[in-house]
Amino acid sequence: MSDTLIRFDFVDSAIRGEIVRLQDTWAAINAHRSYPSAVRDILGQMTAASALLAASLKFEGSVALQLQGQGALKLAVAEARDSLDIRATADWEGDAPAGGLAQLLGRGTFSVVLDILAGEPYQGIVPVESDAVGPAIEDYMDRSQQIPTRLLLASNDASACGLLLQRMPDQSSADADAWERVGALLATLGADELLGTPPVTVLRRLFHEEDLRVYDPRQPRFGCRCSRERVEGMLRMIGREEAQSVLDEQGELRVDCEFCNQTYRFDASMLGAVFNSGNLFDGTGSLH
Ligand SMILES: [Zn+2]
Repeated sequence: MSDTLIRFDFVDSAIRGEIVRLQDTWAAINAHRSYPSAVRDILGQMTAASALLAASLKFEGSVALQLQGQGALKLAVAEARDSLDIRATADWEGDAPAGGLAQLLGRGTFSVVLDILAGEPYQGIVPVESDAVGPAIEDYMDRSQQIPTRLLLASNDASACGLLLQRMPDQSSADADAWERVGALLATLGADELLGTPPVTVLRRLFHEEDLRVYDPRQPRFGCRCSRERVEGMLRMIGREEAQSVLDEQGELRVDCEFCNQTYRFDASMLGAVFNSGNLFDGTGSLH
């Protein structure tokens, strides 16, 4: 299993963790677009983080992490479902020079959208004040969710990996020591070691003196949620007039999914059917 997510916890303290390694999923995401390496590395780290956060969802749905900026990197989105189906995409401009997150993004925001199948969606948004994806997510979790979180994220052309530690509520003073101690252990792990070592080996090396409970591995995979139905819903939101004007100009209307490159085509009669059948106000589609 090249793609693995393993959950673990520390037996004597209220600290939980997860480690993820994505290779096939990451290859599938990269197969759809050719990213400059600086953009690719940020997207890989976002993708690994989305898997880590989705694995602890207590509901059916998805978590989408999004960076929006005004620099060379305009947008990076990674979305993972509770089933660990993952998709991700980024938009950039120009050469996207190598550098930290701040340099690529300019003034930017980080947002988290929880899409809950049986409830209202939740969105949290914070300005990006860190120069890397991991610390930006730690900031968000500490401030918006009050869950102390430590993250190491790493990505290259072949893999996207991450290790997450979270301190759960209901702390004793012994836990404070444990949190400091396992955080210090995590700080000894380098990005290259995380990328080049099987997850189980990373856990054994890093926490061999801790009493660790390790759960069965799960397998993340690439999965896109786009469908013709969703695209039709999106067209209804955009409105007949605008859809018609594109059709008039280009002879057909084409919608490409940015996550998986699937193309949805509409000719005049198909478009007529979209606007004549069903509820005109059914705005369930989403632009992606
Ligand atoms: Zn798609």
